[in-house]
Amino acid sequence: MKRILASTDTVLLEYLRASLRDRGIAAFVRNAVNAGSAAGELSPAVAPPELWVVDESDHDAAERLVERLVAAVRAPVAGEPWQCPRCGERIEPQFSQCWACGATHPDAEERR
Ligand SMILES: [Zn+2]
Repeated sequence: MKRILASTDTVLLEYLRASLRDRGIAAFVRNAVNAGSAAGELSPAVAPPELWVVDESDHDAAERLVERLVAAVRAPVAGEPWQCPRCGERIEPQFSQCWACGATHPDAEERR
C-alpha cells in the first residue's frame, strides 16, 4: 500500500477514491474523521485524512491521475456560456447540463 495524497478535504479524497476505482485502481481513505474513534487514533488535526492505493504498482498512475483531477477541481471555471442545442437556453460554463430541459453539453463527454 502506498500513500498518494493527504488532505483535510475529505470530500475531495472521496471523489478521488471513486475516480481511481472507476479506472480500476483500488484505493482507500485513511484517517477519515468518522472512522477515527478507536482508542489510540490520532485526531484529524494531527493526522489529516490520506488517500492510499492498495497496490503499489498503481501508485505512479494514480498519482498522475490525482494530480490532473485536483488541478481540474481547483481550476477556475473557464470557457464561455453555451447555448443548449435542444431548447436554446443560455447556460453558464460551469454547468455541463441544461437546467431547463436536461440536455447535456455537446462536449460533455470530453470534459470528464
Ligand atoms: Zn435545454
